Amino acid sequence: MDTKIPPGPLSEKWTNHKNNLNLISPANKRKLDVIVVGTGLAGGSAASTLAELGYNVKSFCFQDSPRRAHSVAAQGGINAAKNYQGDGDSVYRLFYDTIKGGDYRSREANVYRLAEVSSNIIDQCVAQGVPFAREYGGLLDNRSFGGVQVSRTFYAKGQTGQQLLLGVYSAMNRQIARGQIQMFNRHEMMDVVLVNGKARGIISRNLVNGKIERHAAHAVIIASGGYGNLFYLSTYAMGSNASAAWKAHRRGAFLANPCFNQIHPTAIPVGGPNQSKLTLMSESLRNDGRIWVPKTIEDAKAIREGRKKPEDLREEDRDYYLERQYPAFGNLVPRDVASRAAKERCDAGFGVNITGQAVFLDFASAVQRFGSEQAHIKRLENTDDEIIKDLGKEMMKQKYGNLFQMYQKIVDQNPYETPMKIYPTTHYTMGGLWVDYNLMTTVPGLFAIGEANFSDHGANRLGASALMQGLADGYFILPYTIGDYLSAEIGAGKVTTASIEFEKAEMKVKDTIDTLITNKGVHPVDYFHKKLGTIMWKYCGINRYKKGLETAMEEIALLRKEFWENVIVPGTADEFNEELAKAGRLADFLELGELYAKDALSREESCGAHYREEHRTSEGEAMRDDENFGHVASWEYMGAPGEWKLHKEKLVYENIIVQQRSYK
Ligand SMILES: Cc1cc2nc3c(=O)[nH]c(=O)nc-3n(C[C@H](O)[C@H](O)[C@H](O)COP(=O)(O)OP(=O)(O)OC[C@H]3O[C@@H](n4cnc5c(N)ncnc54)[C@H](O)[C@@H]3O)c2cc1C
Repeated sequence: MDTKIPPGPLSEKWTNHKNNLNLISPANKRKLDVIVVGTGLAGGSAASTLAELGYNVKSFCFQDSPRRAHSVAAQGGINAAKNYQGDGDSVYRLFYDTIKGGDYRSREANVYRLAEVSSNIIDQCVAQGVPFAREYGGLLDNRSFGGVQVSRTFYAKGQTGQQLLLGVYSAMNRQIARGQIQMFNRHEMMDVVLVNGKARGIISRNLVNGKIERHAAHAVIIASGGYGNLFYLSTYAMGSNASAAWKAHRRGAFLANPCFNQIHPTAIPVGGPNQSKLTLMSESLRNDGRIWVPKTIEDAKAIREGRKKPEDLREEDRDYYLERQYPAFGNLVPRDVASRAAKERCDAGFGVNITGQAVFLDFASAVQRFGSEQAHIKRLENTDDEIIKDLGKEMMKQKYGNLFQMYQKIVDQNPYETPMKIYPTTHYTMGGLWVDYNLMTTVPGLFAIGEANFSDHGANRLGASALMQGLADGYFILPYTIGDYLSAEIGAGKVTTASIEFEKAEMKVKDTIDTLITNKGVHPVDYFHKKLGTIMWKYCGINRYKKGLETAMEEIALLRKEFWENVIVPGTADEFNEELAKAGRLADFLELGELYAKDALSREESCGAHYREEHRTSEGEAMRDDENFGHVASWEYMGAPGEWKLHKEKLVYENIIVQQRSYK
């Protein structure tokens, strides 16, 4: 596999590469059309930057506005190696933390570049007016996220994604107003069209009136986000899907490491069988929240049965298990480690809610700490405990107010007074379309950015680094690398949609829609989606093992068959029909799920979030096998679901010492 990693020292690769990429003159950029599928932080930043450069951009999203892309949900923050805290941060440290956090399963050159451009992102966003939190003196504030020992996370309360997306959206709007971006809201990409082996456009469906449309371009960029809704229950927006990436995969783009899926340790636990969504409580809360379960089974039982409250338990009766097991990183261990530890405690009988699948995230000591500090500042040393508590709560409100409010609204408990209950759930997919150093897939002219590509995060993404990667790709990397590809397209002329390739792709899309809408089944789409989610969580979730993965593959193949025989989609194809859109997306999940399990089965090691029970250290930690699995597993679609060919990209580490990961 040709990664196109440039030669030379790590720290000079990107600069040298940029110096050697072909440029396109402004007059020629006006002759080139680019399609961007997705308007999240990755797609939106790419679309606005490419339009600013002078390319003609067509931008697509399935929501009613670009600013509703799932990136809007991001809460905790975005990393950058600015070292504002003077705590020893640097480009190298961010690079090192990311590689180690990903358990040595990401590409060195890409990760270094990501760390290098991280600072530019903050400058760009500040210039756009993104209201990052500031310290009293006016400097941008930072906090910590898991798996690191510095504070490098920039944030806007618990709404960082929303504020960053508003910046992106305003940059896009400027170009929409100029006519340089043509915006297609409520349009879903249904297929990518290849002409002579190159990506030359897409087929889209207008979700409002069902019209199938053809769009041509000199290059296509997939920025359609992650595929975690494969699990049905997740922290993703309900509409997040794999379809754009999956259609690209079916057309020849390799899919890399599909089984690398992040389970986030701090979501609000499942409340009942009819739930369709899980809500994240940001990792930023682990800066000040302490995770614990009761030390004894009796206390855990008493709490579950409502005979005791968490506040009734004395300090010595609580097990702050992360602080106990991982003293160096404590509550800020990476997500994969924290998720496994929570599951282990709950499986051992220490869970604290009715289902036994929850642990506490407790802010009492932070309230006390902040309150005492404020009392000191206000010269109230001898004041009573209640005033200190109120001062502490006020500080917590300033830092995490919207998250606490969200929790209270959903759970009807006050987290300022009693610990939150949390449990791991699906949150982010590290796997995705394989891309080379230029962010191009294995299909010429087809690029993938943001969460949709297989990313820089290896087997586990560190917190606050998805926003960083999406914006790095869209603002600072793709706009350079795509020019190199497009420089050879200057003479190609306008791409036409009046070709046999477009004709065939359109027919195929119409056929599939027709099959779904006329099917005489009995079960709605969600019936199958829930079943798929149950299989995925049971066999492909936090822990995986050979027999379970084999079972998952068999059950998913059967479920897929049942879906096509028995699904019912109400309404018609030429109206706003959310059930129809969902059915098409689920059809793709039902193929991807099988590949996911196959990938997990073939990776006979544990690394990061991929935890095979057969491969663990005596202390229960993930045990890698670098010799046999130190590669990116990249899958080629061979014409039918169930048939894939594996290609391996060997990972080479020349600038980092590879070790078994430890956070103790
Ligand atoms: C609750 C939550 C909190 C998070 N908090 C953080 C955080 O604090 N820090 C951090 O770094 N990361 C965080 N993340 C992760 C991060 O938000 C995402 O990884 C990131 O925003 C993904 O951006 P994206 O641009 O790649 O995709 P998205 O924002 O998911 O955008 C996808 C776009 O693609 C479009 N699309 C998809 N399919 C199609 C199709 N077929 N046709 C047309 N359009 C399509 C959608 O309409 C949308 O515009 C969080 C995630 C969640 C769920």
